[in-house]
Amino acid sequence: MIKITNLSKSFGELKVLDDINLNIKSGDIYGLIGQSGAGKSTLLRCINGLETYDSGTLKVENLEVKDYEGKEIRKFRKDIGMIFQHFSLMERKTAYQNIALPLECWGYKNDEIDRRVRELLNLVGIEEKIDVKPRCLSGGQKQRVAIARALALKPKMLLCDEATSALDPRTMKSILSLLREINEKLDITIVVVTHQMPVIKQVCNKVAVLDKGEIVVKGEVGEVFLNQPDVLRKLLGEEDNNELPCEGVNVRITYSREEVGSALLARMARSLDLDFSLVWGKLEKYREDTLGSIVINIDQKNESILFNYLNDINLNWEVMENGP
Ligand code: ADP
Ligand code: MG
Repeated sequence: MIKITNLSKSFGELKVLDDINLNIKSGDIYGLIGQSGAGKSTLLRCINGLETYDSGTLKVENLEVKDYEGKEIRKFRKDIGMIFQHFSLMERKTAYQNIALPLECWGYKNDEIDRRVRELLNLVGIEEKIDVKPRCLSGGQKQRVAIARALALKPKMLLCDEATSALDPRTMKSILSLLREINEKLDITIVVVTHQMPVIKQVCNKVAVLDKGEIVVKGEVGEVFLNQPDVLRKLLGEEDNNELPCEGVNVRITYSREEVGSALLARMARSLDLDFSLVWGKLEKYREDTLGSIVINIDQKNESILFNYLNDINLNWEVMENGP
């Protein structure tokens, strides 16, 4: 659906996007994550033609976005809905009028507009707010209006730029479920730009990590997390080793859903017949998947027995730096 090849872009001297390669398939919920200034919004704006690029290609349904001109670009953008962190609603208009706006711009008839707006209010679950203006809506409700407006023209894809960043965690969750519902029910491809890891975990099937304009990791969400590359850990804020013991060897083990339920630690203790202590651990859900991550501490003299065992049973593991 979206194919980006060797795309680069600079603002003056500043290279903002550096040799980006990305393939977003129809039906994906593709996450673009990275710290502020990484180039995420710029990349999103290149996709809908709001921003140009210096080199490389960016094709949406096999057509080069850069080549669109005048009227064509307007038609092209009709197929792309967009939502933002701060909703961008018209304060003087009601929910109904806000959602009707794109339909009016495209000259739809009043009865058609009415039907479509009500249908959309129903889809996003705020029928009772039909005549309410934005200032009397909660953040979550405002984003629902914005989502309805973005879907008004039946786009093929929805671009979300930090759409949940201004929401509390519970509201964020409900908006993310709505996005998944839209993806599944309406068969809309979604690109989610965020700096929040939970967003990726809850809603995306694929992810690319952007760092200073470069894609440093990309792939299936579960796989990317399972292999826990350094970049991701930095974003997760887990690089801090202050809590780890300074004696012995600290080993991080990451394991997948099948292993979560299999009493991994108990089995390990039995098979190894060694003392080790559990230093840190957590289970995390990624859409339907569950991944576990633990850090254990073991005497240095026993490390090779442990390493051999972990290799034998095919687990992902690595030695962590000791605490200070
Ligand atoms: P992100 O969305 O990941 O926070 P942006 O794509 O907004 O990052 O910005 C990437 C970099 O490009 C930043 O350093 C930003 O200051 C710069 N930038 C963004 N838009 C412009 C612009 N219109 N003119 C000049 N620099 C810009
Ligand atoms: Mg941004």
